[in-house]
Amino acid sequence: MDLIDQLREIVGERVSAAPSVRYCYSTDASQVKGMPDYVVRPMSTEEVSKVVTLASSLGVPVTARGAGTGLAGGAVPLRGGIVLDMSGMNRILEMDLANLQVIVEPGVVQAKLNDGLKPHGFFFPPDPGSSNICTIGGLIANNGSGMRCVKYGTTRNYVLDLEVVCASGRVIRTGSRMLKSAAGYDLTRLMIGSEGTLGIITKAGLRVVPLPKARRLVMASFEDAETAGMAVAKTFSSGIVPSACEILDRTTIQVLKLCDPNLVLPEGDVILFEVDGTEGSTAELAQKIAEVCSPFAAEIVMAGGEKEMEEIWEARRLVGAAISRLDPTKSRIYVGEDVGVPIKKIPALIREIGEISEKFDLPAMKYGHIGDGNLHVALFIDVMEKDEWTRLAAAADAIHRAAIRLGGTVSSEHGIGAARAEYMKTQWGEGTLSVMRAIKQALDPKGILNPGKLGLDESPSSGGR
Ligand SMILES: Cc1cc2nc3c(=O)[nH]c(=O)nc-3n(C[C@H](O)[C@H](O)[C@H](O)COP(=O)(O)OP(=O)(O)OC[C@H]3O[C@@H](n4cnc5c(N)ncnc54)[C@H](O)[C@@H]3O)c2cc1C
Repeated sequence: MDLIDQLREIVGERVSAAPSVRYCYSTDASQVKGMPDYVVRPMSTEEVSKVVTLASSLGVPVTARGAGTGLAGGAVPLRGGIVLDMSGMNRILEMDLANLQVIVEPGVVQAKLNDGLKPHGFFFPPDPGSSNICTIGGLIANNGSGMRCVKYGTTRNYVLDLEVVCASGRVIRTGSRMLKSAAGYDLTRLMIGSEGTLGIITKAGLRVVPLPKARRLVMASFEDAETAGMAVAKTFSSGIVPSACEILDRTTIQVLKLCDPNLVLPEGDVILFEVDGTEGSTAELAQKIAEVCSPFAAEIVMAGGEKEMEEIWEARRLVGAAISRLDPTKSRIYVGEDVGVPIKKIPALIREIGEISEKFDLPAMKYGHIGDGNLHVALFIDVMEKDEWTRLAAAADAIHRAAIRLGGTVSSEHGIGAARAEYMKTQWGEGTLSVMRAIKQALDPKGILNPGKLGLDESPSSGGR
């Protein structure tokens, strides 16, 4: 029997080999491309397990996909085979708030989970810019995060338990409803950030936390981005932990004002500090931040009420895509976009990015989660100009290498996938990478789960960029 007929026996009509359908699954939000042979939309753990068991028996690659918002080609099937579209498994199964947790299927969209939690006074803190689209499964597989992780931590800090379909098709659980456990290897953490290379997540138990009662936003503007970086380092060394700490460089501010001239934002390179807690504690923290930043800042503005704050955060979420407002003939390409360095090294990273931008004659907008050392660099080019692509690749490479040299990482939250696989050896060294390869070999001896990712293959593919 053909593979498609065997898949049909498992999932009925929720399988397709039509070129038009396969094409839709051949990329994500990155530049990486790879065509699947089959697209399967499972609706239960049992279906996932049967599909993986079948694929394992035939040595066919299986790549899990959430919403396809990944920026590193993680969900792109580099070696063909089956794409498992997990977005149909999208139920919030249980709100166990007495145990401070929820049980969800992997296809639940991040914002939908928080919409469900809000009336109960709780939230799930990791909040990526893509929160209205990306799935919990994708967030766990990439260890995604966002603006609040400076205070609340990344997805890793909120996963208590996973149900996982292993490469053999066997279903295991990696945790329990316990908020803590000291029983053996931490397989939950091993799965987090594994980008679908060690197992397919079919259920997750997530820790949630009470919504803060109050929040405030302090906006400080600076003469240059380097000084802004110094003010952030000073804020942290003064013992202040904001609930968000974002940099919007002067180009980003310009873009935001082009999008919405009514936005209340200072000029220059700006840091947004949000603090949360009670009315009293937020007032005190906001005042302290203003005091610490004032020797560095050109201007410090306290945002007005909740509505004004929300408008500013919404604009911040959209800024990555809005850059073409500066020049409609150019498009933003997501490469070299997710570097991170220890907080103290931020001014040095900002300086180096400025030099790289000049050297390759490419404007670079800088924004992002500076509070945890994560800078998003937006390079934009005229996609019809071959030379601009060449300079773009060279600039992205230089940005990645600068981050590693400064003791940082080529990806703080978007993941490695195929787009950054070539840097794994430089960032980690052969010793650490060989341990990662041994884990992959032990859990997926036939190498069917998302092959070609994370630099785990001896000769990693760059994914047909
Ligand atoms: C405009 C924009 C803004 C963004 N902002 C942020 C941000 O602020 N912070 C951030 O962290 N990211 C951000 N991202 C990147 C992206 O949204 C995240 O990486 C997100 O976690 C991907 O989720 P997804 O559901 O789209 O996963 P996909 O892209 O579909 O997949 C991502 C990875 O997860 C694996 N995977 C998916 N589901 C499963 C599963 N059930 N089991 C095992 N593996 C699975 C895939 O194989 C792949 O390796 C942004 C992206 C865009 C386009």
